[in-house]
Amino acid sequence: MYLDRFTVQNFRNLKKLDVKFDPNVNIFIGKNAQGKTNLLEAIYFLALTRSHRTNSDKELIGFGGEYTNLLGHVQKSQVDLTLRVLITKKGKKVWINRVEQSKLSKYVGQLNAILFSPEDLELIKGAPALRRRFMDQEFGQINPEYLYFASKYRQVLIQKNNYLKQLSKGKAKDKVFLDVLSDQLAGIAAEVISRRFKFLRYLSHYASDAYAHISLGSEQLAIAYHPSVSDIKADDSTEDIYHKILASFERNKDTEIRKGTTTSGPHRDDIEFKLDGKNAHLYASQGQQRSIALSVKLAEIQLVHQLTDEYPLLLLDDVMSELDHGRQSALLNYIHGKTQTFITTTDLEGISWEIIKKPRVYHIQ
Ligand code: ATP
Ligand code: MG
Repeated sequence: MYLDRFTVQNFRNLKKLDVKFDPNVNIFIGKNAQGKTNLLEAIYFLALTRSHRTNSDKELIGFGGEYTNLLGHVQKSQVDLTLRVLITKKGKKVWINRVEQSKLSKYVGQLNAILFSPEDLELIKGAPALRRRFMDQEFGQINPEYLYFASKYRQVLIQKNNYLKQLSKGKAKDKVFLDVLSDQLAGIAAEVISRRFKFLRYLSHYASDAYAHISLGSEQLAIAYHPSVSDIKADDSTEDIYHKILASFERNKDTEIRKGTTTSGPHRDDIEFKLDGKNAHLYASQGQQRSIALSVKLAEIQLVHQLTDEYPLLLLDDVMSELDHGRQSALLNYIHGKTQTFITTTDLEGISWEIIKKPRVYHIQ
């Protein structure tokens, strides 16, 4: 799939833009603070209806404006699509082929995009919450059921935690109602976890392949899921996982009531990245961590392709300057001819562009 034409009105510093993109490689070159990242962010928002930089959509509206409008024409192997997003201070609305969609989950997934920026290093270095956010975002865009169960889980978790707080303050007494909420939460948690296991298994396979490619085969990368309910195993059925989570809720009932919060479940789980069997979060060098993060993104491209039969867009923000020549070439080689790629850079020099035949270059000012 590729984004053929893109019209932007009032997105951050991009006042008005109407552009036709190349199906292969597009390079945005410009000095600092010109709008290169903003343009990638706008493409990402058109695909996912969320930004990679902020949770507050209002920030995206250009200073002094009332709304932002994004319109994209997407070519897929079977169909063409027109996607539209309107952001106002009250919220956002989305359209597919001029038909307004009441559910974002119907819209997300029409256009797939994978973004890689220097901050993605945090995926390896940062706190577990970032890795859970990563799973929710990335698995959500390829699997509507995942999107549904992950958001349902958040809803019921809030409900259960609110009730636990009432119990802890003595404002509620009925523990049967707590059991009902726990049972419902365990059922949804099992759906979330079994999908995380499945998608991470694929991701690990593709990421280790991409890592070997970029690092020229020096180490072996593996990715594992770490459930907070430690007796859950990768080959458990959804039913098994449900029973184990329910048992964990039951075991920890008194602690949960005392703390007023749910102490185990998908919202406490984590991912572990391992290089040659060693935890990368603790032991990998900066360069190794960067290569792992990049490999994960490249793996996502393959995962999206496996599940949807289409290659997603690849958005690379300031990535080239961070890689040495060998790795730049390996990266360009790996993606070339597969995905429509958007690359930002402040300087064309020093990058081995010869691998890409005829990229389209845009000067952003
Ligand atoms: P760099 O090379 O430093 O990464 P860039 O070209 O990627 O630069 P952007 O991050 O796209 O720069 O930002 C461009 C400008 O957009 C910045 O000067 C920023 O202040 C401005 N900006 C951010 N949000 C808004 C907004 N809501 N309205 C108007 N301008 C904004
Ligand atoms: Mg930038």
